[in-house]
Amino acid sequence: MADRITVAGVSVDARHWIGGARVASAEKFTDHSPIDGGVLGEVARGGPAEAEAAVAAARAAFPAWAATSRTERARLLHAIADGVEKRLDELAIVETTDNGALLRSHRRGVMPRVAHNFRFFADWLLTLEHDDFDTRGHTNHVSWDPAGPCVLITPWNAPLMLASWKVAPALAAGDTVVLKPAEWSPLTASMLADIAAEAGLPAGVLNVVQGYGAEVGDALTSHPDVRRISFTGSVPTARHIAASAAANLTPLSLELGGKSPLLVFADADLDLAVGLAVEQYDNAGQVCLAATRILVEEPVAEEFTRRFVERAGQLTQGDPRDRATDIGPTIHPRQLEKIDGFVRRAVGAGARAVVGGHRKDGQYYTPTLLTDVAQDSEIVQEEVFGPVLTLQTFADEDEAVRLANGTRFGLAATLATGDPERAERVTARLVAGTVWVNCFFVRDLRAPFGGSRQSGTGREGGTWSFDFYCDLKNTVTAPEGWTDHG
Ligand code: NAD
Repeated sequence: MADRITVAGVSVDARHWIGGARVASAEKFTDHSPIDGGVLGEVARGGPAEAEAAVAAARAAFPAWAATSRTERARLLHAIADGVEKRLDELAIVETTDNGALLRSHRRGVMPRVAHNFRFFADWLLTLEHDDFDTRGHTNHVSWDPAGPCVLITPWNAPLMLASWKVAPALAAGDTVVLKPAEWSPLTASMLADIAAEAGLPAGVLNVVQGYGAEVGDALTSHPDVRRISFTGSVPTARHIAASAAANLTPLSLELGGKSPLLVFADADLDLAVGLAVEQYDNAGQVCLAATRILVEEPVAEEFTRRFVERAGQLTQGDPRDRATDIGPTIHPRQLEKIDGFVRRAVGAGARAVVGGHRKDGQYYTPTLLTDVAQDSEIVQEEVFGPVLTLQTFADEDEAVRLANGTRFGLAATLATGDPERAERVTARLVAGTVWVNCFFVRDLRAPFGGSRQSGTGREGGTWSFDFYCDLKNTVTAPEGWTDHG
């Protein structure tokens, strides 16, 4: 069927999902698989008309959804989680084929997390309380009121995971949603629409508009009926969205890029530190949180580099559906070009590729480690979003902190040290939304997540998500018989 795309036997609707119905567009765009560049099919290419229709559907559905009890909203979110778990294998293979990340990670880690996101925010909703307090006999009562239609815009590197991280709290809060997935990985968002409908989510509560950001974006982000915009993506797009949202002063949550450091101190368990560094090649380095700048204390730099080169040499690159593969392809030929350009310019400026440093067949780029890089160079300052790490050395804690904080980003930082007091000292001086000590990527949904500086604004996670997706209201009630208005 022309409106469907079949991936590994799984049939996915390639139209929008608006007001509880599939909606086609006159225009379409072609979806490719990064695994071999092959065409997967044609996807509806939305524009202002589809954006308008989706916001109208979200607005129409809002009053009833906002009035739905917390327990019923939570029940429906758990039913969506059940649907995700039921279709876990299908979601995993479709996502892998669409964005090139490892199938085994999608099966074991990512898709279970998608289900968990729905369960977590359903359960958290039921615990949301704020103690009433007294002001001269008057009671203050704080409530989390649903805010209205939300526009949620997601990138391609973890499509369904990041969509669920936004959709779940927004729905739990009693908001309605227009989800705009990335055009390089549009398929699992469409599957989520089906799962939500099967779970019984009322029409119009969740809408999915497909298409290019530049064509569909402004109509969504400048819309006066939209009450929240949550965006995960790049800094330039965020600037554009912020300007567009300014027309209505629509509150924004921005989760953006990073250039996070991994600080390896001489007292660290060096094997652990090398393991943490090699882990940064996961998802072919297309991870916002990736610690792409390795900073090593001088006395251990040579030994660290030797062990890193050895470990990196053991990585297998290839088809992400293959169990033995450690690193898959980059998402798109344009991304590959971008990565290659960064590395070529860095090498031209004097950097040395001690690991990799070149493209392979198809959309694959070798895991790469560059040394001899200056702190103010492009390769140290700019997010590559590919399997490219830099290595610099430092003499002492002061220099480590100066290098670590020396970019315009502040998303995350990772420390490898055997000294807990040092970890505490250094952590206190780092500018980062998340700091990991002797570990990486351990995430808990109760914790605030977000970036400092140009890595983003605001925090989501736990109660912070509800602070964003709700209109907080304080109701002050006078004691019975109160007459003193003076
Ligand atoms: P991108 O900014 O190019 O696109 C992200 C989304 O924005 C896509 O859905 C795209 O269609 C849409 N978009 C583009 N132009 C738009 C416009 N004018 N109006 C509205 N929407 C528009 O980013 P990307 O290349 O898809 O993703 C990679 C970036 O995302 C990296 O910088 C990465 O660090 C960041 N990221 C951040 C986090 C985080 O949590 N901080 C997580 C994952 C990715």
